[in-house]
Amino acid sequence: MKSVCLKQPGDISLVEIPEQKREKDQILIKVRSAGICGSDIGAYKGVNPLVSYPRIIGHEIAGEVVEVPDDEVEFMPGDRVIIEPYVYCGKCYPCSIGHTNCCENLTVRGVHIEGGMAEFISHPRHLVHKVPAGIPWNLVPMAEPLVIAMHAIKQSETKAGQHVVVTGAGQIGLLAAQYALTFGAIPIVVDPVDERLALARSLGVAHTINPTSSDAVAEIHSITQGRMAEVVIEASGDARAIRGAIDYVSYAGHISLVGWPKADIPLPTALFTKKELTVRGSRNSVGQFPESLQLIAEGKVNVAALLTKTVSLDETPATVADIAAHPERYLKVTCVL
Ligand SMILES: [Zn+2]
Ligand SMILES: [Zn+2]
Repeated sequence: MKSVCLKQPGDISLVEIPEQKREKDQILIKVRSAGICGSDIGAYKGVNPLVSYPRIIGHEIAGEVVEVPDDEVEFMPGDRVIIEPYVYCGKCYPCSIGHTNCCENLTVRGVHIEGGMAEFISHPRHLVHKVPAGIPWNLVPMAEPLVIAMHAIKQSETKAGQHVVVTGAGQIGLLAAQYALTFGAIPIVVDPVDERLALARSLGVAHTINPTSSDAVAEIHSITQGRMAEVVIEASGDARAIRGAIDYVSYAGHISLVGWPKADIPLPTALFTKKELTVRGSRNSVGQFPESLQLIAEGKVNVAALLTKTVSLDETPATVADIAAHPERYLKVTCVL
């Protein structure tokens, strides 16, 4: 079968591999679509230390069930499904308290273990979710970045009516802002690229700020009538944005860090104490695929607006290389098989 393989950083191609068979307690899926994620680009560029090579990439994987275990009752051949790609051990401390998303022994598809950009994938049955009718194949993989955004909002305990500053208007930031809108929070999107801010406004975000051309602190002060934002979702990994989050957040506010910084960042932790901030990391997600798929099916989160284009599996290797060379030209690309 065909697969998209990274032999080493910078070397990506379509590779013929033996056809995938169903493994024990797993479901065999004929892959119909896959999302190209920032982490796939990081793997291509060789900047993700978690990735080992050679590696079949792809963790945003949707398709049709082909074969199930004999005693399976929930799934049957032909079902439309998406995989939850974070395979956890179930035995470590974080797993024992339900935080399987940050399992000490976590293996993520396309990162630590083979990904799903191939014609078939076999995946643990408890990490497969049915896809509601009506979502086109090229949009189904976007349920994965949406769960990342939803988890970041959950980590920050955002409530209706609260102001949520989202730093970074990439796919995760724009999805977090849209998710905040679904339950009545008020997103304020901060990003240095005006086109991204225009896209945020077209998705219903009332407040957007370009921190390179205006005073973000003063604007947030004015929008929140002096309180500052009860919540900041940091979705860029950029050092200036992470530093900014501490100024944008209110006293007793919450910060959720979902972006991955490339280096250590010095921060004025005295402000954490002075403002009594709750600062939380946010990694992957737990149990949010059903809601994510429902939000997409009901049109409450517009994922199509974030889609730059859809390509074929054959076009995927060249597309990954082009995204790595020209990231500003792309927001989200999916591939369909
Ligand atoms: Zn992803
Ligand atoms: Zn574990």
